[in-house]
Amino acid sequence: MDHIDTLIIGAGVVGLSVAAKLSQHREVFVVEQGKHFGEHTSSRNSEVIHAGIYYPTDSAKARHCVAGKALLYQHCKDYGVPVKMLGKVITAQNDAEIQTLEKLILQAELNGVDDLYWLSQAELQQKAPQITAKEGLFSPSTGIIDSHQLMLSLIGQLEQNQGHFVANTQFISATPVQQGFLVTLNCEGQTFTLSCTHLINAGGLFAQHNAAKIEGLNSAKIPPIHYCRGQYFSYQGAHPFKHLIYPVPEQHGLGIHATIDLAGQLRFGPDTQFIDTIDYATDSSALDKFYQAIQRYWPQVEKSKLQIDYAGIRPKLQTTSAQDFIIENQSRHGITGLINLYGIESPGLTASLSIAQSVQAQLDAE
Ligand SMILES: Cc1cc2nc3c(=O)[nH]c(=O)nc-3n(C[C@H](O)[C@H](O)[C@H](O)COP(=O)(O)OP(=O)(O)OC[C@H]3O[C@@H](n4cnc5c(N)ncnc54)[C@H](O)[C@@H]3O)c2cc1C
Repeated sequence: MDHIDTLIIGAGVVGLSVAAKLSQHREVFVVEQGKHFGEHTSSRNSEVIHAGIYYPTDSAKARHCVAGKALLYQHCKDYGVPVKMLGKVITAQNDAEIQTLEKLILQAELNGVDDLYWLSQAELQQKAPQITAKEGLFSPSTGIIDSHQLMLSLIGQLEQNQGHFVANTQFISATPVQQGFLVTLNCEGQTFTLSCTHLINAGGLFAQHNAAKIEGLNSAKIPPIHYCRGQYFSYQGAHPFKHLIYPVPEQHGLGIHATIDLAGQLRFGPDTQFIDTIDYATDSSALDKFYQAIQRYWPQVEKSKLQIDYAGIRPKLQTTSAQDFIIENQSRHGITGLINLYGIESPGLTASLSIAQSVQAQLDAE
């Protein structure tokens, strides 16, 4: 039977970041159940490099977002991944929302984000033409990235380090044995077994399902998963924006915001809807809801130019309150060599390279 040092379940941006990092010093295989890498959340998001403004002090989200942002901009430079530090405007429409902006600027400072600043009305008009807002903040270090090219660059790094990415291969189950795991995989209908010393569950929306297939893992310690779909409408035609435009954040997301992709296409979203199964179907009847949300900050938006685009699904751990990333190692679940990554929703793309550093540090410490 083949033995490898590290098996990573899932070739999304997180699994691939971990793979690229660990392969510098270990033998690494990444298995992906899909035909291609990154077919789930990693290709169904806003592609924004977040600054690290919103997350509670000392949370894993805050730490990994701020550290990951710096690592990601550097990685893009080193590997030629398309990226633009466009900056974003966060708008407030009334006094309550201005108070939210005041809290955001304080939270950002606590998180080590020291470049956020208030815009005067003149600056607001210049940075966000046609936008109406009582007050606004500007985040210069927010940017956009080509997530597909990012994942390709990570696979390139992995392969340069003699690591392997294997598509069409599903993790089925694992049994802890002395010095590692016996793992059963299914490759295009054929089941086979290998052994590994370390097992990293970076399964995104499937992470809890995978964890339940690891023998000896206390099921009471596997957090629940709640699928929260967010869909986007693209805007057909010209628009006046050079920066991303955000409302104040909501309970489950950052609000229906305007992002611009690297081709200059304007897009709005994501909304939030809890669903029972992984279903990326979009619902064009959300048009009115989107139109109203966008009109709050861009009254001149033309409804006829909004077209339903795509949807992504957030792997929420809770439906009622804020949640943090969970990077769970032996000290939490008691199984040496196993790391489970749960609830890696936004800002997981931004945080991915920092999460990878953390996984490496945790394995090295075992
Ligand atoms: C609507 C939306 C907008 C977002 N916007 C942003 C943003 O602008 N900026 C930002 O920083 N973050 C954003 N995020 C978050 C970011 O997209 C995610 O945190 C990140 O993509 C998660 O990557 P992942 O690798 O953990 O998961 P995934 O991309 O879902 O990858 C997991 C992979 O594991 C595979 N897998 C699972 N189980 C198995 C198995 N048993 N065997 C083999 N393979 C398996 C899956 O097929 C999948 O390919 C957004 C998320 C959503 C939903």
